[in-house]
Amino acid sequence: MKNTREMRTWLDDLSLNHPLVIAGPCSAETEEQVLKIAHELKDTDVSYFRAGIWKPRTRPGMFEGVGALGLKWLQKVKAETGMKTCTEVANAAHVKLAIEHDVDLLWIGARSTVSPFIMQELADALAGTDKIVLVKNPVNPDLALWLGGIERLYNAGIKNLGAIHRGFSTYEKTKYRNIPEWQIAIEFQNKFPDLPLINDPSHITGKRDMVFDVCQTALDLNFDGLMVETHYDPDNAWSDAAQQITPKALVQMMVDLKIRKESDPEAKFNHELSNLRAKIDVVDNQIIDLLAKRMQVADGIGALKKSKNVAVLQSKRWNEILGKMVLQGEEKGLSEEFILKLFKAIHQESINHQEQVIKD
Ligand code: PEP
Ligand code: MN
Repeated sequence: MKNTREMRTWLDDLSLNHPLVIAGPCSAETEEQVLKIAHELKDTDVSYFRAGIWKPRTRPGMFEGVGALGLKWLQKVKAETGMKTCTEVANAAHVKLAIEHDVDLLWIGARSTVSPFIMQELADALAGTDKIVLVKNPVNPDLALWLGGIERLYNAGIKNLGAIHRGFSTYEKTKYRNIPEWQIAIEFQNKFPDLPLINDPSHITGKRDMVFDVCQTALDLNFDGLMVETHYDPDNAWSDAAQQITPKALVQMMVDLKIRKESDPEAKFNHELSNLRAKIDVVDNQIIDLLAKRMQVADGIGALKKSKNVAVLQSKRWNEILGKMVLQGEEKGLSEEFILKLFKAIHQESINHQEQVIKD
């Protein structure tokens, strides 16, 4: 991909206030629901109205969207409110129908980006279109698949491109529905610095009370826009009920968010600082996870020692570990004083864990 600068054109041409805001329900449910939400979002910061028509659901038997019928409702939204419209497309038939019904922006969902076959089918179906096409990150934390999806579209002559960061699924339970892995979004920005990047806090958090904080982090990291699932009665939404916010809450959120203008002379400094802070946060989380894993192993050792009635503290082994760590630390530019302090603290915590196991 050579001329990445031209990729920003569609966003710059919109000459909107920063950030670009896309909002609307997870799913189009009924004509009344779609139009009621759209009217509540009219005359706000929202410039694109979203609604899923074909819904990719992890398990069968759930609401899978109203289908092509919903495209007529999106046409009404545009006619009645002036907002542009967007929906998810996942195959060539969706693309054809969405374009026939004047949908302005098409996004490709996380479950499609994972498949190069689907991405190629979509690229072929969209070839040469001047619609805006946004590619969500794949469900798994694989930057290359995300970049590959963008490249397939670019090679098919689609110029109005962008990306949506919606977090990544993990086997481990976390406070997020899909962990943000901000460092992947940052790497994406570094690869395609001109490609508009939108954040989707709804699918990252899965919970409406966490949406604000994720939006703020995204803006601090210089994202170009936000896609926020919005419903007048979130609790009774037919899909993703826990993560949707009301149009009123969205308006308030846009007031409360600290929005940094790109032209702000401090923006570059802030961006770099936030970039580095995001990296530190990632590493800090990894340190905590590793320490927790180490203590779990210590618990196992405690249980084993208990079964054989062996003393917890074994100084010979401990001195060996310490000597090795000091040497390894030195190789990586870490002082002996620091390594000794750190490992004494870690060792103490391990002993506490083992003693606890033995007492129990
Ligand atoms: C959605 O936007 O409603 C959706 C299904 O998103 P994702 O592809 O990120 O899961
Ligand atoms: Mn959703």
